[in-house]
Amino acid sequence: MFEGVLHNSMMWKAQEQKAVEFRMVNLRDFGLGPRKQVDDTPYGGGDGMLLKPEPLFAAVADAKAYTPEAKVLLMTPRGQRWKQATAQAWSDSNDDYIFICGRYEGVDERIMTVVDEQVSVGDYVLTGGELPAMTIIDSIVRLIPGVLGGENSAAIESFSDGETLEFPQYTRPEVFNDMKVPDVLLSGHHAEIAKWRDKNSLKANKE
Ligand code: SAM
Repeated sequence: MFEGVLHNSMMWKAQEQKAVEFRMVNLRDFGLGPRKQVDDTPYGGGDGMLLKPEPLFAAVADAKAYTPEAKVLLMTPRGQRWKQATAQAWSDSNDDYIFICGRYEGVDERIMTVVDEQVSVGDYVLTGGELPAMTIIDSIVRLIPGVLGGENSAAIESFSDGETLEFPQYTRPEVFNDMKVPDVLLSGHHAEIAKWRDKNSLKANKE
């Protein structure tokens, strides 16, 4: 799953520039027995399977051996909601991160003894922690100076001040299917354009 995302676009560019380095740890490599088992049924009953502690702890230890100071993050719907401000703060830091991606019904709770932070990408449930991890990685890495084309592009994006959403944008042609680009954007009056953009930016109504 990670290959497609981490080897394309900004993520690929960031690695080329040596701005970031990724290392994959496959839980299955630490699975138990000949079938490399990584999951088991929950004590107390209930539907679904949980990721077992032995492979989880071994995988985190393997990652820690490579990046001993790394912060360990658990992807989980019960975690702290991911925000642009956090992406910016983590991008500014030089820290390493280990992302634990859950599967099935989640993880054995004892993994919490090595988890530094629980992170959620929103109030909905996904099949695994891979998409949340990639979402978070993308949002951090594209903010590393030099990764985005224009150094200003991140500064004027939605949520860059914590609450404002981007104004409407247009490109060529001037008229498409009878829909015309607002005159002010064609006027060349920078102050008027800035005023229009400010007026048409939305304040995000989100907690
Ligand atoms: N039983 C869990 C619950 O009710 O919260 C959901 C498990 S989910 C099917 C499997 C895994 O996907 C989770 O362990 C977590 O790693 C990941 N996941 C799902 N939704 C997520 C979200 N909104 N944010 C972060 N991780 C999520």
